[in-house]
Amino acid sequence: MPSEPKPSQAKAPSKAPSKAPSRAPSRATRIIHNRRHQDSFGSPYSPVYNTTTYRFANTAALQDVIEGRTPGNLYTRWGSNPTIRELEQGLAGLENAEDALAFASGMAAISATLFAHGRNGIVCFGDLYGGTQELLTQHLEPLGIPVTFLLQSEFDQLADALNRPGMLVYCESPANPTLGILDIRKLALLAHAKGALLAVDNTFASPVNQQPLVLGADFSIHSATKFLGGHSDLTAGAVMASAEQIRPIALWRKNLGQILAPETAALLSRSLRTLPLRVRQHNDNAMAVAQAMVNHPAIKQVLYPGLPDFPGHDLAAQQMDGFGGVLTLEIRGGREQAAKVADNLRVFLLATSLGGVESLASQPCATSHHGISREERERRGITDGMLRLSVGLEDAQDLIADLQQALNLL
Ligand SMILES: *Cc1c(COP(=O)(O)O)cnc(C)c1O
Repeated sequence: MPSEPKPSQAKAPSKAPSKAPSRAPSRATRIIHNRRHQDSFGSPYSPVYNTTTYRFANTAALQDVIEGRTPGNLYTRWGSNPTIRELEQGLAGLENAEDALAFASGMAAISATLFAHGRNGIVCFGDLYGGTQELLTQHLEPLGIPVTFLLQSEFDQLADALNRPGMLVYCESPANPTLGILDIRKLALLAHAKGALLAVDNTFASPVNQQPLVLGADFSIHSATKFLGGHSDLTAGAVMASAEQIRPIALWRKNLGQILAPETAALLSRSLRTLPLRVRQHNDNAMAVAQAMVNHPAIKQVLYPGLPDFPGHDLAAQQMDGFGGVLTLEIRGGREQAAKVADNLRVFLLATSLGGVESLASQPCATSHHGISREERERRGITDGMLRLSVGLEDAQDLIADLQQALNLL
């Protein structure tokens, strides 16, 4: 970015005109200018370092790097690759984090964080992504890691569940597919009072709409496959945290081999430059779709944090800067009727995932929550008539018209 900020014409300083008031660049500006690459070609962006290894002039120079006396890159799986580090600096900047790590997938980021910081026990609060649930029950619990699951309505049991020092509280807000909103500040205070750390899966909100670390959480985790990537063409993950808390996660990433490819890192860095713009439009489109669906006779309810009568609306308005691009419709008549709507959509694609430029529709009972029993789904408020929409960047009126024609065919 320009080293001398241009004086603002609107607010010319009355004294010392030679010194323009220094203005900290805002996030959208920082994302675009997060690097100052210099090469003989004048490219503003650094090349993709598609390399696994690095050459040294002599053994002493190699030894200096291995033993940490001089900074340098050794081996890409360890995370030492300029393209990956540049992405990580961009990711850290998105959430005002001291440091960040990029991963080959969201699940890689989640598993490394849980293995590195959950060994004394994990308490999951509220609804979880299906893959995270499976990781916890199929892998971590059998390894002897104590895992407790509490519903959002069971907040009063959380303090008692944190019965050992050094535990980890793990949650998602907004949650899938009910869009339940958790009070991140309150969870952080309680976790810290009990000597625990708090990890928030921030995938649904994206860093533009929510800043878990600023709200007091210790880890913000992303499936970068979703909004951060934003084009449904890459799989990646991220963890943002303090440098101290990042260190053990980096060790897991290194030894479990969860690094992403430099090419994917470069693609993700490119996506980040349009993130604020994209997320704002996702927010606006989702709000327009939600409002247009509220009074439709075929719809029992619209779950979207931006609607004033949504149960978590006030809390979302306090802790979020936007309500996100995901909403859930509950179609009257249950599973078959919801499937009919999904099958009749023409602009929305029938596909799982979210956060891409294209709008997607999926039925949680048939996709993300397929592996959970009907009773357990109902206990969590997930009904068979739900249709989750990831609202993309098409014209909102086209999306609304598409939903209306599909609903009118019922
Ligand atoms: C998709 C998703 C994940 C898993 O991410 P992958 O990139 O598919 O590994 C984790 N959490 C949430 C909330 C997700 O939506």
